[in-house]
Amino acid sequence: MAELSVQIDSYINGVLGHRYDMALYDEILTAAQAAGLPPISISASQGQLLHILVRLTGARRILEIGSLGGYSGTWLASALPDDGKLVTLELDPKHAAAAKSNFKRAGVYDKVTVIEGPASESLHRLIADDVEPFDMAFIDADKPGYVGYLHQALQLVRKGGVILGDNTLSHGVLEGDQDGGIAKFNKAVAQHPRLMSAIIPVMKDKVDGFSISIVN
Ligand code: SAH
Ligand code: MG
Repeated sequence: MAELSVQIDSYINGVLGHRYDMALYDEILTAAQAAGLPPISISASQGQLLHILVRLTGARRILEIGSLGGYSGTWLASALPDDGKLVTLELDPKHAAAAKSNFKRAGVYDKVTVIEGPASESLHRLIADDVEPFDMAFIDADKPGYVGYLHQALQLVRKGGVILGDNTLSHGVLEGDQDGGIAKFNKAVAQHPRLMSAIIPVMKDKVDGFSISIVN
């Protein structure tokens, strides 16, 4: 019998997948793989959760940290209204190029700005430029950077907005790791006076997690 997490994930996709353009999302993953990108995108059911969260919160401006091939970015951008905006940050030029091409493929490129470079620097610039506040931030880049991204995101997301973190039940936290990027991120989220949070277990090839925080 397959792992329980795999069974759960495939059940969710089987029952809900037809409500979404899964052929498009599969094409995006295929294109990312063909471009040599690693298979570390969010899962389809996480994408469905992102879709629901964007629409529930009425988000119009979303900040993503870690674009990879634009898979999660397409889930986010396609849930935005026509005048919405996704700003997504990516270090690796090859990943940024694949993301742009996938945003074009998905017909959402007019809503997306890809900023290439180290996310901490891009975030620093967005803060210095006093850009219009974001309604949502999705942190999904290098794990040692997460705590810093959290503090920078707090300067860019409006009161009442949402900060999401991916992979928050992996990278050793369930095995007792206290010092890794995710362990530190979860503690920082839990202790921050402006944040109220939940961690949702996510079923993929293994169990992982997804944190959701509202900014007070
Ligand atoms: N959100 C994507 C997956 C992102 S994978 C999805 O689910 O589809 C993590 C990405 O973060 C990789 O593309 C990696 O190149 C990028 N990354 C790593 N370090 C970074 C940094 N310092 N600044 C910006 N991006 C970084
Ligand atoms: Mg991730």
